[in-house]
Amino acid sequence: DGEVVRCIGCGAKVQTTDKQALGYTPESALKKGIENGEVYCQRCFRLRHYNEIAPVSLSDDDFLKLLTSISDTDSLIVYVVDIFDVNGSMIPGLHRFVGNNPILLVGNKLDVLPARLKKTKVKDWLRQQANAAGIRPVDVELISAKTNLDVDRLLDQIEKYRQGKDVYVVGVTNVGKSTLINSIVRQSTGIKELITTSRFPGTTLDRIDIPLKDGKLLVDTPGIIQPEQMAHHLVGKELNLVTPQKRIKPKEYQLNPEQTLFFGGVARFDYNAGEGRRGFTVYAENNLFIHRTKLENADDFYTNHVGSFLTPPSEDDKDDFPPLEGHKFKITQKSDLVIEGLGWITVPEGVSVSGWAPTGVSVLIRPAMI
Ligand code: GDP
Repeated sequence: DGEVVRCIGCGAKVQTTDKQALGYTPESALKKGIENGEVYCQRCFRLRHYNEIAPVSLSDDDFLKLLTSISDTDSLIVYVVDIFDVNGSMIPGLHRFVGNNPILLVGNKLDVLPARLKKTKVKDWLRQQANAAGIRPVDVELISAKTNLDVDRLLDQIEKYRQGKDVYVVGVTNVGKSTLINSIVRQSTGIKELITTSRFPGTTLDRIDIPLKDGKLLVDTPGIIQPEQMAHHLVGKELNLVTPQKRIKPKEYQLNPEQTLFFGGVARFDYNAGEGRRGFTVYAENNLFIHRTKLENADDFYTNHVGSFLTPPSEDDKDDFPPLEGHKFKITQKSDLVIEGLGWITVPEGVSVSGWAPTGVSVLIRPAMI
């Protein structure tokens, strides 16, 4: 008695009077805590140590139950996508499941976007992509979970749109959802990686509940495995060679018709036809090996060199790596040929080009962003 009791979670002085302030613990919990020799403040009591929650596959019944259970709530949905892999970030059927709940769309990995790129353009494009998938977000935010860029702003927007309701954070794996959740936990609670896990009702799936100031929850849901991601075909170091790590420095290539660029062994770009030498700009991981060759030799060159000269994939992994599949486009206006998960190539008007990616990984055309 008279002695200061500290929370063993966050070290805050435990107090029983101000619910909004640090270290608040209900009287009864404090008594129990002292008896057990383990006093947590209410916030930390709710936040057990952070456990990675296991991802689920799209066909998992529990995943459908999870989405249905979210549609039964009155909440804000925060939908996290990777700006470099928007198609691979899509959750099929999401629009049917969220019901009338508003969706705040969050494009992550802003830190690697080249400086010249206008954020408003990226936002518009993201919104269009979402609309095409039947999703009508109330707003679009761009952030970097890794560098904390604009995470503050995102939290303000969440506060604005949730209107006193719970928040559900959804996303497929590899988009940076865990990184974002950790960043939110640090910023909103000041407690490092302390989190409560619980179950979604009627499923075997875990959830992480982060208490918000008004007693509502920010709920992290399991990541969903979207098999059509470049990330699923590469491991560890190889994945890092392909995924943009730092701000992208564009690379200019002057190509003649019937020339090919290889991006390691994971992707390929052909300038099939057009009027002579033209300029192409590559936006991809700065350390990704790019090799120029003749189109007529390209198929053989790939077969002979994938896993050795053209890497990643490594020699060991090349047999499990899906074959590259070509997608042909006639370009009528300056466009970006996007290889999802890798980056894009800005292509001038009036040419015919092909983008190649592992089977299942999307290759698409959009109006040039720069
Ligand atoms: P989750 O599967 O969605 O939970 O994704 P993770 O949080 O595990 O992140 C997947 C990968 O993306 C990791 O290698 C992260 O370091 C990386 N990552 C996450 N957020 C960012 C970001 O804002 N910028 C960059 N460049 N990488 C990020």
